[in-house]
Amino acid sequence: MPLAGIPKWASSRHAGRGSGVRTLEAVPEVGQRMNFDSYTDRVVGIAAALVNALTPGHDGGRPVGMDPAGLSARCAEVLGRVVTPEEAEDLGALAARLHPVFIAAEAGDVDGVAGLVNALLRDYRAAPQLSRHDDEPWHLHFSSTAAGFATAWGAGCATGLAVVVDGQATGRLGVCRADCCDRVYVDVSRNASRRFCSEACLNRTKVAAFRARSRTT
Ligand SMILES: [Zn+2]
Repeated sequence: MPLAGIPKWASSRHAGRGSGVRTLEAVPEVGQRMNFDSYTDRVVGIAAALVNALTPGHDGGRPVGMDPAGLSARCAEVLGRVVTPEEAEDLGALAARLHPVFIAAEAGDVDGVAGLVNALLRDYRAAPQLSRHDDEPWHLHFSSTAAGFATAWGAGCATGLAVVVDGQATGRLGVCRADCCDRVYVDVSRNASRRFCSEACLNRTKVAAFRARSRTT
């Protein structure tokens, strides 16, 4: 069941249905809209959020808390649903596979991104399915032929990232350029100008640059 108050939920159009094909059961809203369709926006945003919550590194100068006891809670915060310890462990493994995709994208290595995403599509048995129900037009469900909550998310994230590569939009995936921060982001700005994971990192960098200039004048 979803945790109350955290996400807005996607329409029932993307709720898990179908025979033998598992779809993402619900997709919380993450970030703003970007140039892909809104479902892809949210799934790719969640891929970034999983990386930021579940992989070690630094967030705005502070080490990211990797306390195993808090793993399920960190997953729940991203996904807006209670997550069992087993599911959380699998989501952590997924996040570790998603992280290099953002690093390769930041480096401009589109071939590298494509290779990593293809491996994710294979390993999480992504099986996108065109579906039509509830008087809606045909639309794509990001599904997997394999069972399991984290597997469904792995297939969903892989498919969302594949849509990004297909749209020649890997420049929209990035790693924060602030000192002592390596969190990732999805750039939803109109002019693709984002370079930082957060307003805080943007402002910290601006202040540091201002001080450096002040010292030299
Ligand atoms: Zn940052």
